[in-house]
Amino acid sequence: MNYCSACGAPVTKKVPDGDNLPRFVCEACRAIHYHNPKIVAGCIPEWNGDILLCRRAIEPKSGLWTFPAGFMEIGESIEQAAARETFEEAQAQMERISLFAVLSLPHIGQAYLVFRGPMRSSDFGAGEESLEVQLFSLSAIPWDQIAFPVVRDVLRRYVEDVTRGEFQVHVASLPDCL
Ligand SMILES: [Zn+2]
Repeated sequence: MNYCSACGAPVTKKVPDGDNLPRFVCEACRAIHYHNPKIVAGCIPEWNGDILLCRRAIEPKSGLWTFPAGFMEIGESIEQAAARETFEEAQAQMERISLFAVLSLPHIGQAYLVFRGPMRSSDFGAGEESLEVQLFSLSAIPWDQIAFPVVRDVLRRYVEDVTRGEFQVHVASLPDCL
């Protein structure tokens, strides 16, 4: 950030009085601009034991696979965001969704809330941000072509739960080495 979004004056980065972290502070209007982590809503759509994955058409990681996921918008709930992303990226509608994983990525200031659940029908297709969308059996997940470490981690947990025969809600923090 270079300029104050409230008054347009240059901002400086410093620790405000009573705070303990550096912030962008406007010396002109005294506004303090906080940058906080973003929430990513994701969904693992299920159909007859398979899961629906999307091959990304956009950078970063264009051409690699992920489950539908994207930034939550103001005005929607986290579960609405997960269902919306699923429809936008995979043109699939969810019958219902359950929380599956809460993963913090402190090094990049993001938190992933990932849901899972059955699709309403077998209808799906590539949305604007997808090159292709495909159902995968769990033994055919393209592990060497997964877009992000967090996606790989969530899918690994998913396969483990299916193998064990019981879903749990996973809460974890991914180290930046992943
Ligand atoms: Zn200002």
